[in-house]
Amino acid sequence: MTSTRPATQVPNAFTPAAPRATMRAVAVTPDTPNSIHLREVPKPSADDVPDGRGVLVRMLRVGVDGTDKEINAAEYGAAPPGDDYLILGHESFGVVEAVGPNVSTLAPGDFVVASVRRPGMSPYDAIGLQDMTTDDTYFERGINLRHGYLAQYYADDARYLVRLPAGLREVGVLMEPMSVAEKAIRQAYEIQRRLRIWQPKRALVVGSGTLGLLATMILRLRGLDVVALSRSTRPYQNADLIEEAGGTYVSSSEMSIGEVSEKHGPFDLVLEGTGFSPLVFEAMRVLGKNGVLVMVSVTGGDRTIEIPADQINQGFVLGNKVAVGSVNAAREDFERGVDDLAHAELMHPGWLARLLTHPVCGLENYAQLIETLTSGKNVIKVFCEVAC
Ligand code: BGC
Ligand code: ZN
Repeated sequence: MTSTRPATQVPNAFTPAAPRATMRAVAVTPDTPNSIHLREVPKPSADDVPDGRGVLVRMLRVGVDGTDKEINAAEYGAAPPGDDYLILGHESFGVVEAVGPNVSTLAPGDFVVASVRRPGMSPYDAIGLQDMTTDDTYFERGINLRHGYLAQYYADDARYLVRLPAGLREVGVLMEPMSVAEKAIRQAYEIQRRLRIWQPKRALVVGSGTLGLLATMILRLRGLDVVALSRSTRPYQNADLIEEAGGTYVSSSEMSIGEVSEKHGPFDLVLEGTGFSPLVFEAMRVLGKNGVLVMVSVTGGDRTIEIPADQINQGFVLGNKVAVGSVNAAREDFERGVDDLAHAELMHPGWLARLLTHPVCGLENYAQLIETLTSGKNVIKVFCEVAC
């Protein structure tokens, strides 16, 4: 932080500065595999944020996902400039402890979730759409060049925080993955305005992890018939959850995507989020005419496959189909996410909480957190109960 204190207050040898308070955080050393560790770091304060817009948040829960796994494996992620460590965690849920003088939208005691990406230089960033940045370098808290939330506190500008009603306290940690699903689905609807009267009836969700489950719920709330497809066969808790949300679960070991499409399609909307990129091209083949495929997997590998290029291309041309990528989320996706979490909780009480399968108590149990994330059984969402 650059100092703006008047010269008379600069500490000198005769008036030693009070030592800055510290807090515990879980961090990695980027580029060093398996470097997750606990450390003492400076405690942030609302005053760290310019223009009196700061909010100090005490962390309650932080979720982890595949991105955190990759960061700990040193396949992804970078420390903020000047630091040799990165505080992990991008799925936050906390309670406001203090606000700066120019914050009127939040007050101490409010439950909040913070967005992940912070603005860079592109014109989209300048209008608050950093999720749509065209910059090569992007700034994401807990992921790339900015510290995350897996700590006792964080401070940030109020503009990046979204308030949740206390009634969502138990499921608020699902808000960040929810926002990613919301954006993906919003992209489809925005693009399909080209069709003037688009009324999607059938959706295929490929993948039934946290994102697939939340996307299924959102699409059910929008009134679509949803088929969710993934590898596991029943008995499978995720299949039960899909069906309780009113969707249909199909195991890919029992039916190919082609067969699913013959039986349940054609699909107006397909969402692919398995992390296994060849499925994207399978999905392209079964996408209905005028349909939209949304891809949300961040696939860091370098897999190569052979595809029926003519067939897929022709299907897209003659069927006016769209394939679109979607990453991260805008503020409106968080806001829609709050509404949909509330709606889901009213329609299917207790359903969201069942996604929170693996709580880990306390930051000091970071090893258990990463171990559960990488090799836990029946895992949907692993999260750290920070204040437990
Ligand atoms: C996060 C997104 C982020 C993406 C790419 C995901 O795990 O949930 O917010 O944009 O990774 O880094
Ligand atoms: Zn994530």
